[in-house]
Amino acid sequence: MTSGATPDATAVDSSLSSVEAYRTAILAAIAPLAPASLELAAAEGCVLAEDVTAAVALPSFDNSGMDGYAVRAADVAGAAEDSPVSLPVTGEVAAGDIGAHRLAPGTAIRIMTGAQLPAEADAVVPVEWTDGGAARVAIRRAAEHGNAVRYAGGDATEGETLLTAGTRMRPMQIAVAASAGRSAVTVRPRPRVVVLSTGDELTEPGSPLVPGRIWDSNSYMIAAAAREAGAIAYRRSGVPDDPKGVLPALEEQLAHADLLITTGGVSMGGEHDAVKAALRELGTVTFRKVAMQPGMPQGFGSVGEDHTPIFTLPGNPVSSFVSFEMFVRPVIRKMAGHAALFRRSETARALESWKAPPGKVQLARGELGTAEDGERVVRLAGPSQGSYVLGGLAQATCLVVVPEQVTKVEVGDQLRCLVLDRRRR
Ligand code: AMP
Ligand code: MG
Repeated sequence: MTSGATPDATAVDSSLSSVEAYRTAILAAIAPLAPASLELAAAEGCVLAEDVTAAVALPSFDNSGMDGYAVRAADVAGAAEDSPVSLPVTGEVAAGDIGAHRLAPGTAIRIMTGAQLPAEADAVVPVEWTDGGAARVAIRRAAEHGNAVRYAGGDATEGETLLTAGTRMRPMQIAVAASAGRSAVTVRPRPRVVVLSTGDELTEPGSPLVPGRIWDSNSYMIAAAAREAGAIAYRRSGVPDDPKGVLPALEEQLAHADLLITTGGVSMGGEHDAVKAALRELGTVTFRKVAMQPGMPQGFGSVGEDHTPIFTLPGNPVSSFVSFEMFVRPVIRKMAGHAALFRRSETARALESWKAPPGKVQLARGELGTAEDGERVVRLAGPSQGSYVLGGLAQATCLVVVPEQVTKVEVGDQLRCLVLDRRRR
């Protein structure tokens, strides 16, 4: 991985970065993970790093496309509803039967879908065109040469490319690889992401709460979001607000992380901002103010010998989520080798009016819908947009992008919305 480069050489950059410029700089420092051979089941959802070709012709033998009777087309050429052709049935061949069957002239062999076509047979009469006889069969319709026959190589010829590098291994692609006999494929592996939540106030959900403490939601949320983006995610909760504790906690995770994410401990002026204090010392992480709301304080850089990339996300859950969406998700997708890094967007008409900060892109949590006239519409999700309020976040189906110069959204404004598709990537 070529990482380790930071968007800026200085450890603290106080200028206000635009969301676009910041994201571009981060993505430039990230390379896709090295390809690895993964078992087919484990490769699900991953991006192929090789072309998958057919080692042999597929199917590898001529076989029947239907249940019926293997015949010589010439023997049934005169068959018709009012003058059926009657042939003796000399045997039966089922799917998987590897015995050698030969069709004598003037006879029929019962055959099942997928079964090997007997030698000398050149057509299959579907059972529906016959009386279904066991010892003799009356055939009421002529079958042409090749009728209901799946010829060897009909699906793919030997050496033919079945899947190209860059393809995502969805169920259909897994099927193609398996049908070509592959038990493993070379893909970009899923990035291994470790999420560390920091803060003396954090208590593990399930444990009793005492006044002054909160249950840790960020580590669960960000790990889940990382998985939804295609990563394998682990969480490490409750790293204390002590710079001396932060680096060892990070170092402990380096061995099994392609990407580290911390939450909390990076606000602009906090005395107890342990993450910032610890990483500033290291000099490989840059802290910036990004012109967005929420999620202004951002940190990105690398730690450890392998220059493992690290994001330091703000502690407020909403800021943390929005920051993940804007910066971390595209990085996970780039590491995993995806071509499409960003959320798809839709333009929607505002159903309500709200304020936006000057000089910052607002990423409001919105709910998309369709109006009676068929036009896409958006309203704010939940009763409050406060960056500590999780309720609205849970209702959000998009992030509404309110441009920097806009200070008020008016009813009827057309706004770009980043769609938070729930489907797994
Ligand atoms: P910080 O960025 O550490 O100053 O935290 C900002 C706010 O987010 C504070 O109210 C924290 O209590 C809250 N917060 C920080 N970490 C978490 C977390 N893991 N889960 C939920 N809330 C958090
Ligand atoms: Mg904190």
